Amino acid sequence: MFLNPHFAELQENYLFATIANKVSAYTAAHPENKIIRMGIGDVTQPLVPAVIEAMHKAVDEMAKKETFHGYAPDHGYPFLREAIRGYYAQHGVEVSASEIFVGDGAKSDVGNIVDLFSDENTVLIPDPVYPVYVDTNVMAGRKISYLDATEENGFLAMPDENVHADIVYLCSPNNPTGAVYSREQLQTWVDYALANNAVILYDTAYEAFISDADLPHSIFEIPGAKKCAIEFCSFSKTAGFTGVRCGYTVICDELVSGGVQVNRLWARRQSTKFNGVNYITQRGAEAVFTEEGMKQVRGVIALYRKNAEVMVDTFREIGVWFTGGEHSPYIWHKVPDGMTSWEFFDYLLQKAEVVGTPGSGFGKNGEGYFRLTAFGTLENTAAAMERIKRLLRAR
Ligand code: PLP
Repeated sequence: MFLNPHFAELQENYLFATIANKVSAYTAAHPENKIIRMGIGDVTQPLVPAVIEAMHKAVDEMAKKETFHGYAPDHGYPFLREAIRGYYAQHGVEVSASEIFVGDGAKSDVGNIVDLFSDENTVLIPDPVYPVYVDTNVMAGRKISYLDATEENGFLAMPDENVHADIVYLCSPNNPTGAVYSREQLQTWVDYALANNAVILYDTAYEAFISDADLPHSIFEIPGAKKCAIEFCSFSKTAGFTGVRCGYTVICDELVSGGVQVNRLWARRQSTKFNGVNYITQRGAEAVFTEEGMKQVRGVIALYRKNAEVMVDTFREIGVWFTGGEHSPYIWHKVPDGMTSWEFFDYLLQKAEVVGTPGSGFGKNGEGYFRLTAFGTLENTAAAMERIKRLLRAR
């Protein structure tokens, strides 16, 4: 028996474990103090009533022989694929329900999509980045080229015409930086992909946070994208499904390589290795797209967005460079006084009792930056910002 040797090439990711250890050591030493946590990118608000009601109803259906559901269709129930199609249509994107594949979240689909591509491909991944893109390609033994996202380009890396890639990962609104590609920037990427016969793997897990009508929610709003992009989205951040698990991947019929429709391969892959998302969850996800459901999830997002606004105002006021926060639950700010990301983590924990995430955990270009999330309560966010203001002004 021989193990996959590429697992040995993975960098051990101690980021969240190290954070947890440092925080518990601090809490043990100062049990009476109140730490404010702005590190983890998980939601905190409960599921909205429309979703709960739909899920309760689905549970009752499961209790009766006549309405019981066994294995779900591999690619999603038609009612949910149709509801997602309708959501795309609201953004002016025409996709058919058969081009939409329901899965158990964007992480699985983004990770599993590598099954479709030959190991010969050159993969281009921005740095800093959501670590799943890197690790899944390392596991597959692929050659990875990194693309620098920096303060100079607003953490929105653009293509270099002299560098060829076959597979490009883009994430907008971005985790960890909160930066969002404009329509023009995405058009440049689509043109690059078409010219290079490349595919763009577009992660739009945070699209629901976009509040500017001019910014694209989907790469398929860009002419030509259906021929060169695969889009991953999720109910996790849109509707608080991080613990429920449901997402969707869109691969249009126009995406073809060597005469083969890529969505046929994905359909085959999913039918072979995945047995569908449960009925109760899919009924809950469907309810997100009803008028009432949409109103309610937008209400929840407005709460997180209000937190992000308080954070944006704070960083503007103290004059610290940042990106994100406006169309994203993340603020990515520069660390003051030339500290490293980890030095600032310790400084913030000890002097302000606020926990964030060191940018260096997301790639080499993250060194010297720090991520804070807007998923807490307004009270805690405002209190944390007051502490940060006091601390950074006193320097
Ligand atoms: N993509 C990005 C960029 C994320 O930040 C996350 C979660 O934090 C995911 C995907 C995973 O989403 P899901 O919960 O749907 O697996």
